[in-house]
Amino acid sequence: MIIKKAEFIISNTDPEKCPLSEKPEFAFVGRSNVGKSSLINMLTGFGDLAKVSTAPGKTRLINHFNINDEWFLVDLPGYGYAKVGRASREQWLSFIRKYLAIRENLFCVFALIDSRHKPQANDLEFMNYMGHHGIPFAMVFTKADKLSRKQLEKNLTAYKDEMLQTWETLPPLFVTSAGTKLGREEVLGFIDGIVKDSN
Ligand code: GDP
Repeated sequence: MIIKKAEFIISNTDPEKCPLSEKPEFAFVGRSNVGKSSLINMLTGFGDLAKVSTAPGKTRLINHFNINDEWFLVDLPGYGYAKVGRASREQWLSFIRKYLAIRENLFCVFALIDSRHKPQANDLEFMNYMGHHGIPFAMVFTKADKLSRKQLEKNLTAYKDEMLQTWETLPPLFVTSAGTKLGREEVLGFIDGIVKDSN
């Protein structure tokens, strides 16, 4: 997919106020600092579309972007930052659940996972939530350039093994790097396939 247009539309603090969803929508979510903004900028090729965070876990905004007048890219607030307490996490969950429940054209949620770390409880919990509620999602391993090939393989295998304890089959899985653009064609190709199918 060639990104000809990527424009910010609106930020919302309330899922109910998000723009009407006549276009296929693809959302990006993950723990704060996972590399979400960097990934969005890398995918769109617009360097400053999403703000690379300076204060992780502070903002609670849903940002809608119009891509090629064909689909919405949605930047969801991050979760699980160490300085954010339990009450805040509960708030985040109810906020995200509301968003996931009402967006009729939500075709896929990209669950971002830092490829350097072992499977984290809150990431697994969030993916399980989506699974139980029939929300289509894909896993995106970020910051792959920070690991050697061998370590990356090892971490991916460990993650898949962990997922297969709960899941019969794995969701689509992508490995990315904002720096080297690894995974860009794969993620955009995946989105393109779904957008074309939906027409
Ligand atoms: P967000 O909080 O999830 O939006 O994360 P950011 O995109 O703001 O990135 C958090 C930090 O990780 C920043 O210092 C980024 O420069 C760094 N980062 C993000 N993606 C990558 C990547 O693919 N490779 C490397 N080496 N660093 C990354």
